[in-house]
Amino acid sequence: MGLNSLKKKTALVTGVTGQDGAYLARLLVDKGYKVYGGCRRVSVDNLWRLREVDVLDKIELIDFDLQEIGNVTRAIRQTRPDEIYNLAAQSFVGVSFELPVTTSQIDGMGCLHILEAMRDYVPEARFYQASTSEMFGKVQAIPQQETTPFYPRSPYGVAKVFAHYMTQNYRESYNLHASSGILFNHESPLRGQEFVTRKITLALARIAAGQQDLLELGNMDAKRDWGFAGDYVKAMWAMLQQDTADDYVIATGETFTVRYFCERAASLLGFDLRWEGHGPGEQGIDRKSGKTVIHVSPKFFRPAEVELLVGLPDKARNRLGWTPEVKLDGLIEMMITADRARVATGCNVQ
Ligand code: NAP
Ligand code: GDP
Repeated sequence: MGLNSLKKKTALVTGVTGQDGAYLARLLVDKGYKVYGGCRRVSVDNLWRLREVDVLDKIELIDFDLQEIGNVTRAIRQTRPDEIYNLAAQSFVGVSFELPVTTSQIDGMGCLHILEAMRDYVPEARFYQASTSEMFGKVQAIPQQETTPFYPRSPYGVAKVFAHYMTQNYRESYNLHASSGILFNHESPLRGQEFVTRKITLALARIAAGQQDLLELGNMDAKRDWGFAGDYVKAMWAMLQQDTADDYVIATGETFTVRYFCERAASLLGFDLRWEGHGPGEQGIDRKSGKTVIHVSPKFFRPAEVELLVGLPDKARNRLGWTPEVKLDGLIEMMITADRARVATGCNVQ
């Protein structure tokens, strides 16, 4: 065995306090990595996910903000990572319409800050950029694959396209081992409450427990290719183990409506939904109690919508040997089980 294979690998994970950051930190620690987690100073508890996956005391947190190039450069110079996973982002599409400048600075320029620091200090390191199916936006082909043209529909999507092309450009210009994972939506019990899946599972669990009256939602007919975050972080790691860097679509290949997600989640909690009306004002009524459980409100519609996403992950399957293990129904069950327990105990409802 050579010396290199004995040396403990070092990874820097930006956005370590987020959903994917927690699962990836767990995966890397289990693989024997020394993990530095880039973490913002905030006034609320943003470490709960790291506690939930029991990795908080196994990684080293460092002060990190993607908007500060000096801070990003210092973090990379001091930690000298073998692998950098750029997961940090203002990741909520809805908010990106309200905060387009901040979103662009973090999600677009932030990636460039890392690439610049890599070029100067660790050109031999491997880099993962968290690209997104939102780049396909108003889709130009069904299903979407690596060669499908982008047509982003939100400031979030536009900023991510910039970061995606910068990653490609630094790979081609400076020979950096820089890969992008074009990940389709992926969820888990650690998903933020503003995203539709977690909003649904938490609200329905509260309604079933008598702690909330109504769940308000927007576009019920949007279709998403939803996978499990725990499966998707394995693909991120696999990309950085390849001899050459490349871009990969990571998806399940199946698409479902928000409405289907609601019906399935509701049925696991004992509701039997029927729908009345269509568009804003539509209601989801529980047949058993006659109570309105879901109300469609104009408040949650977006200025421009991504109606349909469905990915073709053939390249990832063939080259990385990656396939998703969890199907949507299993994912919904996992999220409902977690939120029902959180609501019952009052613990970790975050
Ligand atoms: P998430 O839960 O929203 O986590 C985002 C992370 O970024 C948090 O740790 C957050 O820190 C951090 N962050 C935000 N602004 C920052 C800044 N200026 N400097 C440093 N850190 C900052 O997102 P996720 O679901 O884990 O997604 C991970 C990445 O994959 C994101 O880039 C996202 O855009 C991308 N992506 C996600 C999906 C998906 O379906 N989940 C699909 C495709 C791509 P705080 O804890 O301090 O807020
Ligand atoms: P996104 O695909 O990254 O935008 O993930 P989200 O979970 O935020 O949204 C997925 C889809 O659900 C989008 O088409 C939204 O318009 C739709 N949606 C419908 N109602 C809601 C809602 O109340 N909140 C959110 N976040 N999305 C909603």
